[in-house]
Amino acid sequence: MQQKEKIVLFEIMVDRYGINAQEDQAIEEMAELIKAIIKYRKDKSDENGFDLIDEIADVKILIEQLELMHKIPSLVEERINFKLERQKKRMFPDLQ
Ligand SMILES: [Mg+2]
Repeated sequence: MQQKEKIVLFEIMVDRYGINAQEDQAIEEMAELIKAIIKYRKDKSDENGFDLIDEIADVKILIEQLELMHKIPSLVEERINFKLERQKKRMFPDLQ
């Protein structure tokens, strides 16, 4: 799905369900991802691998919705870049 279509769909979902419901859904999906990670760590079956992929997808969808609902995608992107650059400096201090 193209980004523009995704944004329209997210806006419709927020209009229909409300911000609080979408935030509750995000919390629920993150908890499901935690469980899927733990389950896959214990048993790397195809089924658990599929569940892990599924839960990662759910969380990524909700994270994107959270960013759009709060109108902060570019601020989040800035923080991601800042944190990755900081981590790079920690791991490779000689590269400065
Ligand atoms: Mg889920």
